Amino acid sequence: MLNAYDAAKAGLLLPAEQQMIARRQRLLGPAYRLFYERPLHFVRGEGVHLYDEQGREYLDVYNNVASVGHCHPRVVEAIARQASTLNTHTRYLHDGVLEYAERLLATFPASLSQAMFTCTGSEANDLAVRIARAHTGGSGVIVTQLAYHGVTAAVAELSPSLGKFVPRSAAVRTVPAPDLYRAAPGTDIAAGFAHAVQAAIDDMQRHGIQPAALLVDTVFSSDGVYTDPPGFLMPAVDAIHAAGGIFIADEVQAGFGRTGSRMWGFQRHGVLPDIVTMGKPMGNGHPVAGIAARPEVLKTFGQQSRYFNTFGGNPVSCAAALAVLDVIRDEALQENAAVVGAYLRQGLQALATRHALIGDVRGVGFFIGVELVKDRDSKTPATEETGRLVNGLREKRILISATGPSGNVLKMRPQLPFSCADADLLLSSLDDVIARL
Ligand code: PMP
Repeated sequence: MLNAYDAAKAGLLLPAEQQMIARRQRLLGPAYRLFYERPLHFVRGEGVHLYDEQGREYLDVYNNVASVGHCHPRVVEAIARQASTLNTHTRYLHDGVLEYAERLLATFPASLSQAMFTCTGSEANDLAVRIARAHTGGSGVIVTQLAYHGVTAAVAELSPSLGKFVPRSAAVRTVPAPDLYRAAPGTDIAAGFAHAVQAAIDDMQRHGIQPAALLVDTVFSSDGVYTDPPGFLMPAVDAIHAAGGIFIADEVQAGFGRTGSRMWGFQRHGVLPDIVTMGKPMGNGHPVAGIAARPEVLKTFGQQSRYFNTFGGNPVSCAAALAVLDVIRDEALQENAAVVGAYLRQGLQALATRHALIGDVRGVGFFIGVELVKDRDSKTPATEETGRLVNGLREKRILISATGPSGNVLKMRPQLPFSCADADLLLSSLDDVIARL
């Protein structure tokens, strides 16, 4: 499958695109990537749509960060108002961070009663791991085999999806993601996942490593989107607790109402995290993120370290984040994710009755995975077809992406105001593109 850089090298793109890609490579170096064979150049966003430089509208079923809709006017207005009043750090008293902490913490179970703020999800996970290590005295961290938890050196080594060149310390263990689709019929997913976590704990202990934390994305997004059966995390969380470690729920993807029936992904599993980490949907894309934690867990870290993240939780960030919570409530977006998410999954299941390529439709609310297979018995990943399908939808001005170990799981996570009419457009376009593959 070509990517945009290959296409540019082969001279297949428009002159303006070729020039812009060459400029990117010259200025940004070799580590960046672009989506699609034919790259997209957006200049504007509104609601669930992005607009390219020609003014063409694209339906966005990919960008979860602008969670309440691109350029939501209430969030934009809150940012502009606060930016024109005051922006400084958390070493001065300010109401904004307190009001936001109160509002945010009210969305969690009572035990998660303290919040700390960062600028990115990576920093939130990095901080959570430091806290876990201070609290437990251990160093070992367990993550899933294709997890993604961020970009700092500490969390990149907890992100095997970044590839084999990222060095991993002796304290990290990986476990297979809880894959219901590929498990043998009748497999107890909860017991299997807990068994893998226990084996990782045992292996750490054999090597003289004390477990500090189990860290999982509660929708297992980069592993391939695994959300069922509800409750499957419970015995694994018990296992890490029994070993003296803590449970960190990474809600960067799942949080802020995306899973529909609940505000937070972990709630679907009936577990209580010791720390929850959150990412940029908190500010609808404005760089604000953070953690919610049990106060007992923060104690040792607070005694040993001071915490100051210069612009984490600044007044502008908190104004944006507060507006996001207001919009989720006032526009009933969590309910919308539940209702329209179920409608979209139903539509995808109906497509699966007509297209054998669709092996599995899974997910919850507005976090949906569609696994494509060459045949349903062998479940051989249809990786190449998935790439063509993502590019085919792009030509129909619909944005989705693919995930999973073989890159054959379509990942759909629209902005929360996505409507049934938007879902219909996605479904009919998908039907069309699959029929022509
Ligand atoms: N955890 C998960 C599950 C993520 O998907 C991401 C990024 N999308 C991060 C952490 C890191 O967040 P950020 O890019 O804000 O650092």
